[in-house]
Amino acid sequence: MTSPTPVRTRIAPSPTGFLHLGTARTALYSWAYARHHGGQFVLRIEDTDVERSTQASVQQILDSMHWLGLEYDEGPFFQMQRLERYHAVVEQMIAAGTAYRCWCTPAELDAMREAQRARGEKTRYDGRWRPAPGKTLPPVPPGVKPVVRFANPLHGVVSWDDLVKGPISISNEEIDDLIILRPAPEGAADAALGIPTYNFAVVVDDWDMRITHVFRGDEHINNTPWQINIFRALGAPLPQFGHCPIILGDDGQKLSKRRGAVSVTAYEEMGYLPEAMLNYLARLGWSHGDDELFTREQMVRWFDGSHLAKSPAQWDPAKLAWVNAHHLKQADDARLAALVRQQLATRGVAVDDLDRLARASALFKDRCSTVVELADWIEMLFVPVTPRDDDLRDHVTEALKPALRELRERLAEVDWDKAAIAGAMKQTLSAHQLKMPQLAPALRVLVCGRVQTPSIDAVLALFTRETVLSRLQHV
Ligand code: GLU
Repeated sequence: MTSPTPVRTRIAPSPTGFLHLGTARTALYSWAYARHHGGQFVLRIEDTDVERSTQASVQQILDSMHWLGLEYDEGPFFQMQRLERYHAVVEQMIAAGTAYRCWCTPAELDAMREAQRARGEKTRYDGRWRPAPGKTLPPVPPGVKPVVRFANPLHGVVSWDDLVKGPISISNEEIDDLIILRPAPEGAADAALGIPTYNFAVVVDDWDMRITHVFRGDEHINNTPWQINIFRALGAPLPQFGHCPIILGDDGQKLSKRRGAVSVTAYEEMGYLPEAMLNYLARLGWSHGDDELFTREQMVRWFDGSHLAKSPAQWDPAKLAWVNAHHLKQADDARLAALVRQQLATRGVAVDDLDRLARASALFKDRCSTVVELADWIEMLFVPVTPRDDDLRDHVTEALKPALRELRERLAEVDWDKAAIAGAMKQTLSAHQLKMPQLAPALRVLVCGRVQTPSIDAVLALFTRETVLSRLQHV
């Protein structure tokens, strides 16, 4: 069944830093909810903080969305390109009496708060410029640029049924008259228009963009009553709100830059796959029965806005690695080959043979959690290894050396594939009355620089013959 109003969701990051994990998660929920309902997902860049917004951050957000595969149907829209629209709405509101200009200076506001504190009252704007029948407003002071404030209803209650937290109610008496438009900072482009504040611009945008469902972090829960009141003042339909709890670091503190939170793109560099990030992020705050491992498609099928967790989830790097390991195993080898190539390139190892990288990925991916680990394995195919002295002493014994020399001769002759390599090893073993567990570790140490590898004949077949022969040269 399709709902009468098409579902439209959005993610509205501020370009004042990287796209952090909490925002990526709400982007995922918004995207999955829209996809689940066959609706649309919108990207909006909330760049009204002109001093802190940067183009680099916008780019980072776009890159992160692209990498995660959260395709948006509309946008990116930029709030700073919509100033005229906000300005027009402000003028309408002033005309309708739902907003008014306020000429309080910062010093006056400080004094107001000081006096309220001294009287033991909650600090709030006291409404001195709010027009009311029969009220005389103060004289307009010269040289002060006014702000515009929303005339919040003085009485009554704002309530909504939060998709995550359930019913929430706040008395209007708790809420003061919010600034919705400020004079632009000196020198800012379009200074004459003034800059809308978040709580106002977000409402005009959600209205204009016909957003039906807003998922966001619960740090915004205190903003929602203002926003609902502004929607109502504009006669605009209310979206449904879902406020997701914050993500805690593995130390139980708020996830922050200092506590393990890095950008989404940093996870790409650390060798995580986007589908694993989505899987892991989805489970931080949402569940579908006991399912821990799922694809994007499954998530879209299951994500209907129910089973969102009310309490904060904890970031668990070990679980993320486990989820990534699962998706790495499922991943197509040709795709992994390209990722490993990129990873090796960052280490100064240029490899063109994607087919060999794909075969190597197939062999090693089962024992890796990240693409970085996969590249750690595969690097030995291209970069000289340095066996440890104790491994050489323990495994490349004098007694074994004649067999290793013979094997080297045989390997110089055989076809270069796994079966032929296995055949050469078998013949050498029987000629020297040896067993595989004696020979294999020696080969691993000499050729791979480590004692443990997958089946050695399969591993050797990934190397070039020249590399294997040269690593067996000095026995
Ligand atoms: N720009 C706000 C933020 O990044 C958006 C909040 C919202 O989704 O309404 O937190």
